[in-house]
Amino acid sequence: MPHFLSLSLVCLLSSCGASTIPAGPIRARVVTADAQGFYPNKVVEFKYLQDVRHVDGVIAVMRGQSVLNLDAPDSDQISGDPNKIFVKNGSQVHTDTFVDQHNVINAKNFDSLAMLSTYYAFEQIVDFWITNYDFTLQEIGKFNIYYDPQVQTKVDSATATITQRLNASYFPGLGDLFVWKTSRLEDIPFKMNPAVLGHEFGHKIFDIRFAHKSANFVYGQGASVNSLIQLKGINEGLADFMSWLFIQNVTLFTRSLDVEAFQDRIVPVAWTSASLLKDPSICVGSFYCKGSVLNSALHELSLAQNMSPLKVGTAMLQALPKFASDWQRYLSSDNFDYFYLLNRIANELAGNEKTLACTIFKKWFDDSINQAGLAKCL
Ligand SMILES: [Zn+2]
Repeated sequence: MPHFLSLSLVCLLSSCGASTIPAGPIRARVVTADAQGFYPNKVVEFKYLQDVRHVDGVIAVMRGQSVLNLDAPDSDQISGDPNKIFVKNGSQVHTDTFVDQHNVINAKNFDSLAMLSTYYAFEQIVDFWITNYDFTLQEIGKFNIYYDPQVQTKVDSATATITQRLNASYFPGLGDLFVWKTSRLEDIPFKMNPAVLGHEFGHKIFDIRFAHKSANFVYGQGASVNSLIQLKGINEGLADFMSWLFIQNVTLFTRSLDVEAFQDRIVPVAWTSASLLKDPSICVGSFYCKGSVLNSALHELSLAQNMSPLKVGTAMLQALPKFASDWQRYLSSDNFDYFYLLNRIANELAGNEKTLACTIFKKWFDDSINQAGLAKCL
C-alpha cells in the first residue's frame, strides 16, 4: 500500500501517461537565440540525441551534480584525469517532460528546457564544423557537458562548495564543456546562447587542431610569461572568430549580459594592436582585448571582396598545426607574438588573397614587434 501511494504521488506530479517518448526522430521544443538575436522557442528535430530523459546521445552526454576541485595543483588540472580534477565527477541528469498532441517533447521546468536547448545548440555547432570544415565525429570525440557544476575550495580551514554563475567554459585536457548556473542577471541564459556555446566550442577546435588535445601543450612547459599571455589572447580571439563563423552575429554575447567586457568584444574593435599597447585602459578585458584585434582582422578579411568566412576559416584551420610548431619552437621567447599565426594564415592563401591578408593584418597589428614579424608576410 505505501508503495502504491508513492507511485501515485509520482504520477500526480509528472503526468505519467503522457511522458512516454514517442518512437522515431526526437522532436522537442527548445529555446535558442537565432542569428538575428531573437530568442524564439521553437520545435526542432534532434539528430544526435538518443536519450531525452538523461540527455545522452552520439556527440555528448550531460552530467549534473559535479564538483571541481579548485585547489588541485596545476599538474592535476592539466592531467586530463577526471579523478584528479573533480571532487565529484557528476552523475546522470534527469529531464522532466511531457509529449503534446503533435508528438513534440516539452520541458516541464527551466532546467529540462535548458538542458535540451544546450544539447540542441551543440548539435548545431558540431554539424557546422563537420559540414563546412570536414571534421568528423571521431576527431571531435564524445564529450561531457557539465550542467550547473560547482567548485570546491578551502577557505581558511573550512571546505566551501561554491556555485559559480555567469559563465560557460571549456576545459583543455578533459575536452569537456561546462555550462554554469544561470544568473538572474542574464537576459538570454549563456547556456542557451549559441554564440557563447560556439565560442566555447571554438576552444575545443583550437585544442584539437593546435594542441592535439594536450593541455600540457596549451599551458606550455617552458613558456615565458609573455608567451602564455599572447597564446591566451590568440585562443580567445580565435574562439570569438569561430563563434562568428558559426552564428554570423557579432553582438550576441551582449544579448546575454550587456557589460563593458562583452561590448569590447564586438568586432571590429575601436583599437589596433599599437593603440592598445600605448593605452591598455581603452579596453577592460586584458588579453581578450588583443584577441579582439585578431578577431577584427580575420572578420575584415572574411568580408572583403572575393573572400569569404569559409575561405578564411579554412586558412585558419590549416594554419593551426603549423602555428603549433612555431609555439613549440619559440614559446620561451619574450617576443612571442601574434605574427607567427598571422604569417601562417597568410601563407595558406595565394596571390591577391595573400596580399590582401597581409595588408589587413598589418593594419590591425601595427605595433613594432608585429610589423617586424609581419615584414615577410608580403
Ligand atoms: Zn574563451
